[in-house]
Amino acid sequence: MVERIAHLSLKKFIVGLVLALAFAMVLTACGGDEEKSAEERESLYQVSLLQDLTQGDYYGSVPVGDLKEKGDIGLGTFDKLNGELIMLDGKVYRADGDGKVEEVPDEETIPFASVTFFDEDDKSDIKDIKDINGLIDFLDKKYTKDSGNYFQVVRLDGTFKSMNVRSEMAQKEPYKPLAEVMETDQRFFDYKNIEGTVVGIYCPVYMDKMNSAGWHFHFISKDGSKGGHIVDLQIKEGTVAWDETTKLDMELPDVDKFSEYDFSTDQSNDVKKVEKPEE
Ligand SMILES: [Zn+2]
Repeated sequence: MVERIAHLSLKKFIVGLVLALAFAMVLTACGGDEEKSAEERESLYQVSLLQDLTQGDYYGSVPVGDLKEKGDIGLGTFDKLNGELIMLDGKVYRADGDGKVEEVPDEETIPFASVTFFDEDDKSDIKDIKDINGLIDFLDKKYTKDSGNYFQVVRLDGTFKSMNVRSEMAQKEPYKPLAEVMETDQRFFDYKNIEGTVVGIYCPVYMDKMNSAGWHFHFISKDGSKGGHIVDLQIKEGTVAWDETTKLDMELPDVDKFSEYDFSTDQSNDVKKVEKPEE
């Protein structure tokens, strides 16, 4: 009798355990973006280093589908350096070297990107900005004067008197360093009176060995047909939404070539050449 009771309660315990496990699995499976923890949402997820890209590592390591698990807004590029990446509202777009924009399938891979989940901390109106330095001044006064040691992400929806963007042509192996590619294979596109969204990411100065310190902007037009890396712009009017991000989650590329690059060499001039050619 005693043995039978013990056996029954063990059976009940196992059934209970199985039910609890099943419940936990259902909860996990249902976890969409809104279920991500605050910690995950407040991380800037970075694939590789810009200083790896500048040396010519254009081998994609992280699929677009995986990148979408790590954020809904951001910047980057694609395998073979095939165009500029713009992530907006959870979708990933390529602005290619011919100036065309397309949504990119989840299987395509990424050698370098920075993304996060956008949780608006503040919003403000912006108007009559004459050039990119005017935009940087506006953002610095508002968001980085007091918090320049954190990552900042902005999305600026607006109307632009002019928008000057660039992209680059896909590369073939053996890959040349980025600064050399930019001399021959970047293409510029100038648009007038265009509506769209600027995605901007700010990296603190201590990130200058892993990314480019300061602001970096990409653009996509409202109709999703034009875009690229912003070289210059004139803002008529718009709204800037801002998200401060206090964590960094960096994924080093899982490709054999990564071990061959030398990070003891100073890449700062090459980074400057590709990110801030106007200086
Ligand atoms: Zn860019």
